[in-house]
Amino acid sequence: MANTLLILGDQLTLESSALDAGVLGTDRVLLIEPRDAGPAHKIKRVLHIAAMRAFAVELRGHGWEVEHLPLADVPSFRDAVVEHLERWRPAELIVMEPNNWSQQKCLEEASAQTGTPLRLTPTCQFVTPRAEFLSSANGKKRLLMEAHYRRMRQSLGVLMRSDGEPEGGVWNYDAENRKTVRDWKKDVAPRPSRPPTSQRPRCPIVEEAIADVTRWFPDSPGQAEGFWLPYTREGALEVLECFVNERLPLFGDYQDLMLEDSPTMFHSLIAGPLNLGLLLPMECVDAAVQAYKDGRAPLAAVEGFVRQIIGWREFVNGVYWVKMPAYLASNALNATRPLPKFFYTTETNLNCLHCTIGEARDTAYNHHIQRLMILGNFCLLAGINPQEAHDWFLEMYIDAHEWVMAANVLGMALHADGGFMATKPYAGAAAYISKMSNYCAGCAYDPAKKTGPGACPFNLLYWDFYDRHADRFASNPRTSMMVRSWQKRPPAEQKTITAEAKQFLDGLE
Ligand SMILES: Cc1cc2nc3c(=O)[nH]c(=O)nc-3n(C[C@H](O)[C@H](O)[C@H](O)COP(=O)(O)OP(=O)(O)OC[C@H]3O[C@@H](n4cnc5c(N)ncnc54)[C@H](O)[C@@H]3O)c2cc1C
Ligand code: SF4
Repeated sequence: MANTLLILGDQLTLESSALDAGVLGTDRVLLIEPRDAGPAHKIKRVLHIAAMRAFAVELRGHGWEVEHLPLADVPSFRDAVVEHLERWRPAELIVMEPNNWSQQKCLEEASAQTGTPLRLTPTCQFVTPRAEFLSSANGKKRLLMEAHYRRMRQSLGVLMRSDGEPEGGVWNYDAENRKTVRDWKKDVAPRPSRPPTSQRPRCPIVEEAIADVTRWFPDSPGQAEGFWLPYTREGALEVLECFVNERLPLFGDYQDLMLEDSPTMFHSLIAGPLNLGLLLPMECVDAAVQAYKDGRAPLAAVEGFVRQIIGWREFVNGVYWVKMPAYLASNALNATRPLPKFFYTTETNLNCLHCTIGEARDTAYNHHIQRLMILGNFCLLAGINPQEAHDWFLEMYIDAHEWVMAANVLGMALHADGGFMATKPYAGAAAYISKMSNYCAGCAYDPAKKTGPGACPFNLLYWDFYDRHADRFASNPRTSMMVRSWQKRPPAEQKTITAEAKQFLDGLE
């Protein structure tokens, strides 16, 4: 009897272990474009639909029999799976480990309902086997990215010397990878190249995906017409190559820099295709390491990039599977304020937020520091409800998926997991934003002003945050100094700051 090989919409790789487990000429591949995949930016929807349709063509070209259920026919993913299983009665439903928890549950339910055995094969989209991460985390009160990253470097032999020490003698080049706006100007303001796929005429698959998204999801944020990313493996490899050849050499230097008129800076732009399986993590790592070996990119930049892929990406995925399903409800700081409407309209006179949210709306992309130190930082300091923030991030980005969003938003940005994956909150005042961006020059507020008319709200909210959470952060060695510094201030000054912060926060509602 034939099996069904279900390829989920974010598993579009011929390296899929589900395909490996199947028999060409006997088994049937199932691809589903569901309309109930949750809120998403229109550009992300176009990417997913175009990529699935192109992958179906590729699979057929390799001889697979493919049942491809298009958007118009699939109001519900679960119902579509059940109907397929009831119609074809396959011996087994074979699926590569789903990347998202709820999808796995849904498949388990469909399998139980129809009496079809479900076989999950190991994912090839991450380097660390899921079971291995789960067993290494077992019983631990907190997990450290750095420990995980070093283990990965050692076990994979990436940027390691033959004596077992890291290439260059140190594990981490973060200190060299933090050039400021002033440094950038001194370096004669280098500008990044544009990704090659954004400069081409559109092909019919993309045109059709744009038409379908416009028809079925008129209320999703953004404009489908703004689609700018690769949706095939070939295009994804081109974007990777363009990054390695043209932007990687400066990736490290300007990794944390934010410029109003240069949204992507020297970042790789690979997360969208990588999270769909159009690229695999080790080929990205290998391409960067090769550039270092050939003398085309400096070690600090290459180490910084490698850290993102086999460090952070693998780590947040591991944290997700260790902590789900309870993780999504995390709210250790009891933050209850609703997400302000300007996250959708961009209408705010805080220029850093206005610019960053506007770029997300127009392109479905912000780079990491914009996500963490502008948007996440604001939500953390203002006490925005973590679930509302999480849902907004999940809706806005081209690369958004629950497995990656949960730990980044709830853990790293909002400290809602109580410090399980980040030893201190990523809280910053205006001094950080003004040093690392050019947003403040065009802002109604003054980053140097701490109180009074024109004082930057980040300055007020920063201290108000430590006031509200003094008990929790006084006992944390990485934050106790901030709490002491706040508590040493004259009571009148404290009163002014907390009163002005309250006024600002009340105004948000
Ligand atoms: C609040 C918040 C939300 C985020 N949401 C997402 C998300 O939905 N999807 C997503 O892929 N990344 C997310 N990230 C991580 C990171 O910001 C994006 O991966 C990155 O901005 C994507 O752009 P890029 O491809 O140009 O990445 P680069 O800056 O060039 O980095 C290279 C690659 O490293 C990986 N990476 C780097 N940092 C992380 C990280 N913290 N977690 C996971 N992967 C990482 C990505 O695959 C990325 O493509 C989030 C970070 C924060 C702080
Ligand atoms: S002054 Fe404050 S609000 Fe304005 S851009 Fe700078 S940090 Fe943002």
